[in-house]
Amino acid sequence: MKNRRVCIIYTGGTIGMVPTENGFAPKQGVFADELKNIRDMSSPEMPRWDLIEYDPLLDSSNISYEQWNQIADTIEENYNDYDGFVILHGTDTMAYTASALSFMLEGLNKPVVFTGSQIPLCELRSDGRDNLITSLMIAAQGYVREVSLYFGNTLLRGNRATKSSSDGLIAFSSPNYPALATAGIDIEYLPIRVERVVSRTRKHFGVDHIKSCNIAVLKLFPGIRYDMFSQIADSGIDGLILETFGAGNIPGSDLELPPFIEKSIANGATVVVCSQCPQGSVHLGAYEAGAALAQAGAVSGYNMTTEAAVTKLMWLMSLGKSQTEIKILMELDICGELDN
Ligand code: ASP
Repeated sequence: MKNRRVCIIYTGGTIGMVPTENGFAPKQGVFADELKNIRDMSSPEMPRWDLIEYDPLLDSSNISYEQWNQIADTIEENYNDYDGFVILHGTDTMAYTASALSFMLEGLNKPVVFTGSQIPLCELRSDGRDNLITSLMIAAQGYVREVSLYFGNTLLRGNRATKSSSDGLIAFSSPNYPALATAGIDIEYLPIRVERVVSRTRKHFGVDHIKSCNIAVLKLFPGIRYDMFSQIADSGIDGLILETFGAGNIPGSDLELPPFIEKSIANGATVVVCSQCPQGSVHLGAYEAGAALAQAGAVSGYNMTTEAAVTKLMWLMSLGKSQTEIKILMELDICGELDN
């Protein structure tokens, strides 16, 4: 392993946090010191690694598209010098950043592994040590050359992962796609899974940046009043992700929500239908209660996580794609994010 090199990018998050008067918060320099105390980090079985610490360090609740661009740029600047990258990130929005990067890093041919922890390294029983060490090994071994997320002994495809526990040490799941690897006594990769990412327009590695986008996610519920949708449809919104029931069903008659969807689309927006069910897919038209959405011009998000749908929409909009192109591309599998 000593001939492999991994770049660790530390963005913040619980793994390097310390207790403060107002709860845990990241503190500059603390994580680098803590790494020195982990003997395994200098074991001959480990790859060589360097640490890039961002300033400021952030709780991931505050990570947005600007930081996605920053992480992508750091990877691009260091791409030729390392065999892989480990991104240390807070768990709260890790699945969003991993999804975003999976679209932004075109032509990626090296591992980019996201990880973090639920318990800070400075605390007893921290899960950070194993998450970090195993992620470094996965990044160095180089079998999974895509954006992935390692947590609680499991490696997941980045754009299939979702945070599913706020306090468990197995904090992430991938309800619609199998794990890419599991770490027991050995790290066992599932070779069929890792080659699936489709090749895209760029042949060589390059970064697509994300811009600020005017989109919204709306979760429907029984008894929802659609009055506010008239304002949303006229608000100049560019994208709307509807979290619907089951296979893409909405409450109310065809005369309630669908006319607002039609109006939003006529005003230039893309409307994407996702499901509130973590597992399974949207099938627009399977039920009468969902058919009107397709007729109104909404597109299916199939089995994409909301994280993947949001970041894919932002990526396509930032690329300057037209409404027609976005509509087509949202329903296509670009980098392993959906099955249709
Ligand atoms: N609030 C923290 C964050 O996302 C939680 C964590 O890291 O686990 O940054």
